[in-house]
Amino acid sequence: CGVFGVIGVTDAANFVALGMHALQHRGQEAGGIVAHDPETGFNSARRFGYVRDNFTKASLMETLPGPIAIGHVRYSTAGSKGNTAIRDVQPFFGEFAMGGCAIAHNGNLTNAAALRRELIERGSIFQSSSDSECIIHLMARSIQKNIPERMKDALRRVEGAFSVVAMTRTKLIGVRDPLGVRPLVLGRVGDGWALSSETCGLDIIGAEFIREIEPGEMVVIDAKGVESFRPFEQRKSRFCIFEHVYFSRPDSILGGRSVYETRRQIGVELAKEAPVEADLVCPVPDSGTPAAIGFSQQSGIPYAMGIIRNQYMGRTFIEPTEQIRNMGVRLKLNVNRGLIKGKRIILVDDSVVRGTTSIKIREMILDAGAAEVHFRIASPPTAWPCFYGVDTPEREKLLASTMTEEEMRAFIGVDSLKFISLDGLYRAAGEAEGRNNASPQYCDACFSGEYPVAPADMIAKGFQV
Ligand code: 5GP
Ligand code: SF4
Ligand code: MG
Repeated sequence: CGVFGVIGVTDAANFVALGMHALQHRGQEAGGIVAHDPETGFNSARRFGYVRDNFTKASLMETLPGPIAIGHVRYSTAGSKGNTAIRDVQPFFGEFAMGGCAIAHNGNLTNAAALRRELIERGSIFQSSSDSECIIHLMARSIQKNIPERMKDALRRVEGAFSVVAMTRTKLIGVRDPLGVRPLVLGRVGDGWALSSETCGLDIIGAEFIREIEPGEMVVIDAKGVESFRPFEQRKSRFCIFEHVYFSRPDSILGGRSVYETRRQIGVELAKEAPVEADLVCPVPDSGTPAAIGFSQQSGIPYAMGIIRNQYMGRTFIEPTEQIRNMGVRLKLNVNRGLIKGKRIILVDDSVVRGTTSIKIREMILDAGAAEVHFRIASPPTAWPCFYGVDTPEREKLLASTMTEEEMRAFIGVDSLKFISLDGLYRAAGEAEGRNNASPQYCDACFSGEYPVAPADMIAKGFQV
């Protein structure tokens, strides 16, 4: 998901809508905005579909006045899947004795099922199936006198990944979990402030990037400025390395590093680790493009657009059902036949999850008359599910959880298949020495199976880590 917030500008909701549009790649199912205005109080709108189809309408935006607003774009990793329940669309809102509070959450809470059971037993009435709603109920039970303090209480009880943007009548609040699994940045816009999942959300509103919210930090922003708190025990950060590989936009800066540059560098590493003789390097667009550029630059094999992407389709993986995902590949990608015919092609993609995409692409490329097909993948084999906010399927559906690399190659039906090594990925992400196995610099659980936060709810259901 993507989260965004603005304070201290006229009609903050307009800025929030723009920020959400820039973060649309993080969630395409639905979006919501809450704004506060001294005259009309809190107002909200939650809609299915793209930001540009909803939050551009004057008739809707006029209902969201005021100098402070937050927004959320949803990609279902918990709760209902797809366009099923508007009640699962964020921001969530709670009314407390000291006033209202709206929150937008990116990430996944790993103990939400246990918390929900406990809260329901003690009288909480849940409105949604979302893990994030726990935060509101935990806040309601806190005995603290103001909302930021209640939020600290609540967030000390949740486990897992959270980047939260919240608001009261007068304050904008941003928090990152102690490991900083999901991103969150602070920007200055005119006399006001903005919080965004990624820097590309600041760019679109002309905000100046100030800094990242630190892992384990809470910022409370009002007319007086930005105040910083450390509500959690200090821990070594474990940012999601898959944000660099796939999830974030290539024009964003994460941890001081250009996402594009990391992806290009992955291609360079791949060309060193797994060279192959061929005529053309082609990306599987868009997610494989920077790595294909790097692969071509390192290998000297020309880069070409062998697969063309229909720009009006969203991200396939993010389609929540298998059926739509299967169709999605053909609706989205098509082969540039003239270019491919008779050639030995290296295809670069970001990841192999179920293998659906790879098989369809191999079919299309061979149909077009390619002489050889070599897959190069910009991440290590995805062998473990993510419980921190990326919707990977159950372990059994992950190709790499049951097959060796050679078995996957045969299954997909290509001449060769190679994944970047975990060390190569770390080097590309700026860690010259590679992965520190004693204390890894990133979360890489979907590749390594080493979960930095024990997924308590899943373990209770029998998941073996
Ligand atoms: P598959 O077809 O193997 O199940 O999925 C792999 C494709 O899904 C890749 O082309 C990749 O770009 C895309 N993808 C989209 N979202 C995700 C995600 O959240 N995780 C992973 N691993 N791949 C994703
Ligand atoms: Fe990111 Fe993978 Fe960790 Fe999930 S498991 S947070 S996708 S690195
Ligand atoms: Mg892709």
